[in-house]
Amino acid sequence: MMKVVKPGEGEILDIELDEDLLRKNRELAEENRRLLDQHKVHAIDVMGSIGSGKTSLITQLITRLMGKRRMAAIAGDLTTSIDAERISSSGASVIQINTGRECHLDANLVRKAISELNLEGIDLLFIENVGNLICPADFPLGSHQRVVVISVTEGPYMVVKHPFIFIDADAVAINKIDLAQAMGVKTEQLEEQLFAIKPALKVARTNCLTGEGIEGLIKALRL
Ligand code: MG
Ligand code: ZN
Repeated sequence: MMKVVKPGEGEILDIELDEDLLRKNRELAEENRRLLDQHKVHAIDVMGSIGSGKTSLITQLITRLMGKRRMAAIAGDLTTSIDAERISSSGASVIQINTGRECHLDANLVRKAISELNLEGIDLLFIENVGNLICPADFPLGSHQRVVVISVTEGPYMVVKHPFIFIDADAVAINKIDLAQAMGVKTEQLEEQLFAIKPALKVARTNCLTGEGIEGLIKALRL
């Protein structure tokens, strides 16, 4: 026997209370976008679970685009600057945002980080979101593209369990593909599930440790 309990209309108090906050965030995201556009900076929001490979992906992209694009990154994390330090080893300037208890970046935090950047000196900005597959979907930051990094180590059901994060995404990197067999995950199946959610998604199979698949993602994102 199995029962499913679902909330009724208005029963999730958080969402009711947060309507104003979400609207304010969307307005600030539009301001961020205008500011970035004024300075001809293309911004990419990179989302995904903790440990899926967001930092490695950004570092790989920066390393491969070095010399062709002028880049910076913003790294969101609860309390540490581990990711910012890893990304800065690739040679790009990095601003760390520590969100404390907040489990996602919001447009206001990104606005503060952008104000620390020399926008005249860059044309490509990577924004590493906090490791989370749920609320980043509701908080646009003003980016031009959104990329989700998923890892085969998250198991075969992670796509069907988190459909909302993929709806507003432009591209998905299926990462750690070298571990797919060991994890009992079929990469084609994840791809089918992604295309069922959003047929226009660009999907790349990557190994962000070796760099496999990164060129394909660069082409898919037209970088
Ligand atoms: Mg990271
Ligand atoms: Zn959150």
